[in-house]
Amino acid sequence: MKKRPAPSSPASSLLAACGCGCSGDGEAHLGLAVKAKGGRLEAAVEACRRAGLRKTAAREAILAFLDRRGAPVTLGAVSAAPEITAGCDPATVFRILQKLEEIGVVRRIWLHDRTPYYVLAEAGRHSDYVLCVGCGKVEPTGLDCPARAMEEEVATRLGYASVRHELGFYGLCPECQGKGTRLPAR
Ligand SMILES: [Zn+2]
Ligand SMILES: [Zn+2]
Repeated sequence: MKKRPAPSSPASSLLAACGCGCSGDGEAHLGLAVKAKGGRLEAAVEACRRAGLRKTAAREAILAFLDRRGAPVTLGAVSAAPEITAGCDPATVFRILQKLEEIGVVRRIWLHDRTPYYVLAEAGRHSDYVLCVGCGKVEPTGLDCPARAMEEEVATRLGYASVRHELGFYGLCPECQGKGTRLPAR
């Protein structure tokens, strides 16, 4: 078994275990994603409106949270955010995220242990992510995605429409290496 808390644990607690001296919530690691911000939240709200979703405080809070985070987070992390937990239970958060995924506002990524991570989708932008199997933090690779061309191949050769992919990278982050975290050999 890999060393990692149960899938239901909020990512915030995983991130808090990070030993790099960041504020503890992992924001320091997410600089890349945070910098990419700009109208993303507005675009998401607008997409919900276009999809005919009635405006609700819970959904707005979830979108704002995902926007602030900028990188994929677990259902547990979303549900545990104080501004969200005050208004709805995890089942409601799940239903809202499901709906947002359905209309393409949120992207669901299976990175690890079959725990889905959620991130705001941005039209015309695509990121692949790397997950630290030591502390659970997730960050965008910031690299050009090699699978985009393959998506087109799949579409052309096999005749599929709306082709997408998930490409996940796993490893031990520099902070975990510094702490001497070891993982069982593969
Ligand atoms: Zn780590
Ligand atoms: Zn990709």
